[in-house]
Amino acid sequence: MALRIYMDHAATTPVDPRVASAMEPYLRAEFGNASSLHEPGRRARAAVEEARERVAALISASPDEIVFTASGTESNNMALAGTADASGLSGARIITSAIEHPSVLETARHLSRRGTMVTSLPVNDEGLVDPAALLAALRPEVRLISIMAANNVVGTIQFLTELAQMARESGVLFHTDAVQAAGKIPLNVRETPVDLMSISAHKLHGPKGVGALYVRRGARIEPLIRGGGQERGLRSATENVAGIVGFGCAAELARTTMAAENVKLVALRDRIIGAVIERVPGTNLIGHPTRRLPGHICLGFHGLEGEAIKLLLELDEAGIAISSGSACSAHHAGEPSHVLLAMGFDPVCARGSLRITLGRFNTHKEVDRLLKILPNAVASLRPGMTRCATTKP
Ligand code: PLP
Repeated sequence: MALRIYMDHAATTPVDPRVASAMEPYLRAEFGNASSLHEPGRRARAAVEEARERVAALISASPDEIVFTASGTESNNMALAGTADASGLSGARIITSAIEHPSVLETARHLSRRGTMVTSLPVNDEGLVDPAALLAALRPEVRLISIMAANNVVGTIQFLTELAQMARESGVLFHTDAVQAAGKIPLNVRETPVDLMSISAHKLHGPKGVGALYVRRGARIEPLIRGGGQERGLRSATENVAGIVGFGCAAELARTTMAAENVKLVALRDRIIGAVIERVPGTNLIGHPTRRLPGHICLGFHGLEGEAIKLLLELDEAGIAISSGSACSAHHAGEPSHVLLAMGFDPVCARGSLRITLGRFNTHKEVDRLLKILPNAVASLRPGMTRCATTKP
């Protein structure tokens, strides 16, 4: 079988072998329930609390501000629904953006059916929320602002500190979905006044099925899952000890290797962008040119509108795994990305984008292979050239 090259790290990342080793004992001998009073239970508790410290350190939080959940999706649901429950649903308003992950958008939609008003902020053609638009949308009834730190489709990094500062000055809670940003760019909840932050382990070389919600001390939020009172009553259920230990290890590795890793990722990323634009006529970089995640590339190919899936499959055949939008698009095959539509792309063009996202183990040799295959694959699929651009100024 040809060498497999994985370049879809925004969808999920391979578990780092060091993370897998850290988890192993908790899948075998160390099976205690972290709530049990006996010794195996106490050892499991100690492991969970050490992991909590490590996850907290990644975002400069205090360990008691970290609530473990089962996913980034759950963290986002909890941030929105938990705040709405704590502040009363009727008459309250949530502000979010048009490019959020479905776990934010669908929760906002659900809450709107139960009486919460929702304002969706637009973005510009680079995927940025304008802080002035947030300021203009602030009203006395606003209880929560939820704006993602970095986008999963185009990789654009928001002006998080400015946006969060506005919320703080207005006395409104600020949540950020940092599932794509955590472990990839520095995040510091002491410097950026966010009140709630969602993270997911499997996006930073940790295991799937474990996430966290940072809840700033004093922020009022109701649980989504009620029961035995674990996680300070904010998220009942027997803790996923092995998953949490893996998350802690992954967070520690991300924190300590981020600076060096980003130098490599930016070099690989910019090499791909430069080479594809040079070798494939009619290629454009989608998203912000500089405010983008270190390993994130989103490309549009003129003349290939609607053919991105074919291109993806052609590369898959050649052993290269990339994406045509967000991982969730497999459930919505053929539908244009709501992110690209919000950025002003017409529905046909929005179907023609390719997402290449790099991670810890990608190499220049793998990039060589991608650059050998991609230009030919585009050329073979292009029926003719049409101009494809956003309608936004
Ligand atoms: N938020 C963003 C921006 C994401 O990219 C994703 C996953 O793709 C999620 C939330 C959901 O995280 P999880 O897969 O842990 O449920």
